[in-house]
Amino acid sequence: MSETPPPPAWSLRKRLARGLVLTAMLPMVLFAAILLVSEWQRNRDELMRRLDANATLNAAVVDDFLDSQLAGVRLLANQMGDDPGLGGEALERLLHTYPSMLRAHLVDARGDVVAVRDARGRVLPQLAGLVAGEAWFQSMRNGSDAAVSGVYRRSAYGTEEVVGVAAPLLRDGRFAGALQAEIPVQTFTRLTAESLGRRGLAMLLLDADNRVVHAGPELRWIPLAEAGADGLALQRNAITPGRGARILRMDGLLRDGGTAYVEAVAMRNGWTLVLVASRSHLLVPLLPRLLLLAALLAVSVAGVAWALWLQRRLLGRSIGYLLGSLRGYALGGRMVSARNDAIPEELRPLADGIGELGARMNAAFDDLQTALEEREHEIAARTASLREAVSELDRLSRTDAMTGCLNYRGFTETGELLFREARASGRSLSVLALDIDHFKRYNDLYGHAEGDGALRRFAGAVRSALLHADDVLARPGGEEFTVFLPATDHAQALQVGARVCQRVRDADIAHLGSPKGRLTASVGVATLQPGDADLEDMLRRADAALYRVKAAGRDGVSA
Ligand code: GH3
Ligand code: MG
Ligand code: MG
Repeated sequence: MSETPPPPAWSLRKRLARGLVLTAMLPMVLFAAILLVSEWQRNRDELMRRLDANATLNAAVVDDFLDSQLAGVRLLANQMGDDPGLGGEALERLLHTYPSMLRAHLVDARGDVVAVRDARGRVLPQLAGLVAGEAWFQSMRNGSDAAVSGVYRRSAYGTEEVVGVAAPLLRDGRFAGALQAEIPVQTFTRLTAESLGRRGLAMLLLDADNRVVHAGPELRWIPLAEAGADGLALQRNAITPGRGARILRMDGLLRDGGTAYVEAVAMRNGWTLVLVASRSHLLVPLLPRLLLLAALLAVSVAGVAWALWLQRRLLGRSIGYLLGSLRGYALGGRMVSARNDAIPEELRPLADGIGELGARMNAAFDDLQTALEEREHEIAARTASLREAVSELDRLSRTDAMTGCLNYRGFTETGELLFREARASGRSLSVLALDIDHFKRYNDLYGHAEGDGALRRFAGAVRSALLHADDVLARPGGEEFTVFLPATDHAQALQVGARVCQRVRDADIAHLGSPKGRLTASVGVATLQPGDADLEDMLRRADAALYRVKAAGRDGVSA
C-alpha cells in the first residue's frame, strides 16, 4: 500500500505578501498607468491645440507681413507709373520706409534693371537683362497683378534666401516695367521660428512652387530644396484658417526619423505654413510624473516590506511564546495563559486550545498518578500478605501440625541457634528430654487416634509448665518431646522438669495400662557445659538422664 505524501506546507508570510501586492501594489500600479496614459492624452490634446493655434496665428503673421511689404511696393509702383521721373531716390525712400527689404529693383518693360538700391542706399551695378527671364516678371508682363514670389537666391549679390515682392508699372494702362523688392527670408522667419522652437514646434514654409522657404533645424529639409511628395501631401491637406483644425500624424518629416504631429495651413499668398511637433516631446513632461510615481511605488514597496517584516516579527514572537510554553510544559512547566500580553487576539483561541489541552493532560496525569498510587498500595498489600503467607509457610514447615510444637526441623534449627547464642553470649542453656511413660500400651488400649489426642493434651500440659516466653517446646518424633530453656541454669531446669511432670499428672489423662492409672512422663535434664562441642553432646546427656528416670521407675526428673 503506497502512502499518499502529506500536502505541502504553505507559508502564511508568502500568502500575505501576495495579498498585499494584489490589494495594495497592483491597484497602485494600475492607478499610475491610468494616470500616465491620461496625462499623455492630455498632453497630446494640449499639443494639438497649441499646434493648431500657432499654425493659424503664424500663417496670418507671415501673410500680414508680406502683405504690408507688398502694399508698399504697389503704392510706389503706382506712383512710378504716373510719374516717369521717379527713379533711384524713390527706391531709397522705399528701402528706408521698409527696413526689412534688402534691395529694390526698378525694371523696364524689357526686363532690364533701370535702377538698383540696397538697404544702405548704395547704388548696385545694373546688370542687363537681370530679371527678364524670371517667372514673376514674365507673368507681370503678361498682365498679372502685384504678387509675392517664391523663394530664391540672387547670386549676383549674395547667398541669402530671399523672396521678392513686385508690382507692375502701368503707364496709360500699358505695362511699362515693374518695381521689385527683395526681402531676406530670415527677417520674417527667425523670431517666429525661435519662439516656436522654444515651445517644441518646428516650422516649415513652402512657397507656391513646393519649394522650401524655411525649415526648422529638426526638419529634414534645407531652404530652397524641392519639398517633393511630402510637400505636396502637406499642401493638399492644408486647412484654411478658421475652418477647424486638422492634425496629421506623419513619419519622415523629422531628421531623427520619429513620428510627428503636423498641421498645415494654406496661406493667403499661396504658400503653406506647416507646424511640426515631435511625438517624443510628449514624453518629456511625463518624466517628472514618472519619477514621482516611481518614488511613490518605491515608498509603498518599502511600506509593504515593512508591514511584512512587522507581521513576521509579531507572529514569530507570539508563536515562539506558545511554542516555548509548550516546550516548558513538556519539561514540567506551566501551560500558557491566553490572557498573556504576548499573545494577540487572533491567536487567543489557539492559546485557549493549548491551555485546555494542558488542563486535560494535567487531569489525565493526575488520574494516572492516582491509579498508579492505588496500584502501588495494592501491590504493597499483596506483597505483605504474600510475605505473611511465606512466613506462615515457613513457620508451618517448622511446626508439628498435630501438637503445634516445633517439628524435627524446627527442633534442630532452634536447638543449633540457641546453642550458638548461648556459646556467644556466655549465658546458660538447659534442655529437658521428655518421654511419655508406657505410651505403647496406651495406643494398644485406646487406639492410635486416641493416642494422638493424648499427645495433644500432653503437649498442652507441658506448655502450661513453661513460664518464660523464650522457652521452646519441640516434638522431634513419636511421643518424645524436648524443651529448650534459654538463660536457665541446671537447678532451675530441674525445677521446670519437676513442674512439667506435675502438670502432666495434673492433666489427669486416664491410662489404665499404666501402674499410675493416668498418663505420666519421664524427664531428663541437661545443661550446657563448657566442654560441649555441639548440641548433640548436651542432648546425649539429657537422654542419658531420661534413661535413668525410666530405669528408676518413671514419672520423675533426673539430671
Ligand atoms: P516406656 O515407658 O519405656 O517409654 O514405654 P513405652 O511403651 O512408651 O515405650 P516406647 O517409648 O519405646 O514406645 C513408644 C510408643 O509410642 C510406640 C508407639 O506405639 C507410640 N507412639 C509413638 N509415636 C506415636 C504417635 O504419634 N501417636 C501414637 N498414638 N502413638 C505413638
Ligand atoms: Mg519413647
Ligand atoms: Mg515412652
